[in-house]
Amino acid sequence: MQALKASWGDWMAAFQQRYDRLPRTAPDARCPNCGARELNLTFCGLPADRVGYASFWCDGCLTGIHLSRCAVPDDVPMDSVHTPVEQRTAHTPNYVLVWPTDEDE
Ligand SMILES: [Zn+2]
Repeated sequence: MQALKASWGDWMAAFQQRYDRLPRTAPDARCPNCGARELNLTFCGLPADRVGYASFWCDGCLTGIHLSRCAVPDDVPMDSVHTPVEQRTAHTPNYVLVWPTDEDE
């Protein structure tokens, strides 16, 4: 296992940049951990409420963050928690989750 270079704060900054540009994607955005341009953002939750979990990860190093109770912008696709995992449009790999540390509080 390689050491994780990016902190929760680094990931949150990258997430915020991406989130602010929705529904556009940001193919040039670099992973804060490994630098690959392979960041992915998906939402899964309650489409009627436009609230859900955000999964934000890098396909290059399979590292990322998970945020609960995120507001999902109206024109951004999201999966329902009631849809079986294998039928969801977004396929999220198993990735290493980064969590906040005391320094991020
Ligand atoms: Zn990466």
